[in-house]
Amino acid sequence: MININENYLKLKSSYLFADIARRVEKFQKNNPDREIIKLGIGDVTLPLPLACVRAMHEAVDEMAISDTFKGYGPEQGYAFLRQAIAGSDYQSRGADIDPDEIFISDGAKCDTGNIQEVFHIGIKVAVPDPVYPVYVDTNVMAGRTGSFEKGRYQGLVYLESTKDNGFIPSLPDSPVDLIYLCYPNNPTGATITREELARWVDYARKNKALILFDAAYEAFIRDPELPRTIYEIEGATEVAIEFRSFSKTAGFTGTRCAFTVVPKNCRAYDSQGTEVSVHGLWNRRHSTKFNGVSYPVQKAALAVYSEQGQKQVRANIDYYLTNARIIRERMGKLGFECTGGVNSPYIWINGKKDSWSFFDDLLNKAGIVCTPGDGFGLCGKGYIRISAFNSVENVEKAMERIEKAL
Ligand code: PLP
Repeated sequence: MININENYLKLKSSYLFADIARRVEKFQKNNPDREIIKLGIGDVTLPLPLACVRAMHEAVDEMAISDTFKGYGPEQGYAFLRQAIAGSDYQSRGADIDPDEIFISDGAKCDTGNIQEVFHIGIKVAVPDPVYPVYVDTNVMAGRTGSFEKGRYQGLVYLESTKDNGFIPSLPDSPVDLIYLCYPNNPTGATITREELARWVDYARKNKALILFDAAYEAFIRDPELPRTIYEIEGATEVAIEFRSFSKTAGFTGTRCAFTVVPKNCRAYDSQGTEVSVHGLWNRRHSTKFNGVSYPVQKAALAVYSEQGQKQVRANIDYYLTNARIIRERMGKLGFECTGGVNSPYIWINGKKDSWSFFDDLLNKAGIVCTPGDGFGLCGKGYIRISAFNSVENVEKAMERIEKAL
């Protein structure tokens, strides 16, 4: 008899986006003439930067000629891309990261989801609340949690990010082994300072723990005082893995390219307490289960680091940041407390009522779709997330409608 992995049965069905779709569909049916503006999802709307498109075209042409055709590439990614990343994203910021510590992949979603499998089933895992659900669900699937009760999985440590702590959780009061952090944060839009991040790095070093630092929204940081990578913090290479993505940086959500940095001195321990290189484990896992990102896509990602690419990427991010500023300012003027929207594409808004009631108000009165905050965890209750990924015209229009309606 073929038995299933029963951990999957513990997973709370994700009704969030299905529920949103159902309510939007009902609204549209009852109001066929009303135009809906979607500020809910975290998907980019601008096309790929021209430098990336050109590079991809050229690479496709290379694939059409026997002299330049490429079959399987290195599982970890082509050296040209790993070198560009190490040089531009890390060494230029004083972070001591080598190209062979970078693993190119087809997404930060897969990497943040898959990384947990190199760690013991019995480790204590700490996740933020509210949270990008991938961190939680993949640990549930692996069997690291008990059942879902009263909005939380038994056995996980939830790091509460609330207004009171400025959306930066306090250090856990009981020991944890694996810590997920995400800054700029999805969904709160909060950013973390060097001092705050250093506190987590110190904690991990003292407690032989490991930090999984999701920096998928790093490109939105404009404040020079904020860290652009966890490796700007002294000692972080010993205790942190960093995830980055070209998805939001350069509009690669449909093209798919990301990378994970696993420094060679990043350590975990076997059951005897002997140090083991996490780099070696991830390299083994990656080369066994992954066969590399396609050559044209890696060439397109490389173009992000060209002079033209840098200009175009910056212009695209500036565009979304303008939207974010408009949303934050105008919602603020209406009297709502807003977090994020600066150095981040997300604005986390205290709706002063139940998340779904506020969602319904925005939809029914203004024709605007947002994301109810409690879909991201208990601490999201009463909040909504508005995303800056849309056109400036639509964002302006959306704000006018909200101002009229509320
Ligand atoms: N990490 C965070 C925090 C995200 O919000 C997202 C996407 O929304 C991802 C990772 C996934 O990125 P990718 O498109 O590279 O899989």
